[in-house]
Amino acid sequence: MGIIKQEGYNYAFNADACVSCGGKCCIGESGYIWVDEEEILTFAKFFNMKKEEFILQYLRKINSCYTLKEVEFQNGYACIFFDEKIMGCSVYNVRPNQCRTFPFWNYFKNRKKELEDECIGILS
Ligand code: SF4
Ligand code: SF4
Repeated sequence: MGIIKQEGYNYAFNADACVSCGGKCCIGESGYIWVDEEEILTFAKFFNMKKEEFILQYLRKINSCYTLKEVEFQNGYACIFFDEKIMGCSVYNVRPNQCRTFPFWNYFKNRKKELEDECIGILS
């Protein structure tokens, strides 16, 4: 994978760091991993489930939106798709856009320090 840069961001990302990281961005404090309609359908197909079944089993509704459920893990939480045996994502190929676009989120554009504390793959 190597080094990834994106226009408008004052940092780069070494995707190879994920191998030795232990999935820090998928565990820790409680958070939201939003999924849209298309992603829900992709997941349902992946698991060979009806959309409604998938929603019931894996999603939490916040107002009119859906986020992946979390489970208790270590002293905090983990995404329901975090696999502690591999310390990584069990649905990597169908992970939602929010996960795919990390760490290039608008939120982090002016919060590089915060991001560096969370992700060992961040390069100056
Ligand atoms: S925190 Fe960073 S290095 Fe670790 S798994 Fe997530 S993206 Fe990869
Ligand atoms: S879907 Fe996968 S990459 Fe996204 S937070 Fe959950 S475990 Fe991590």
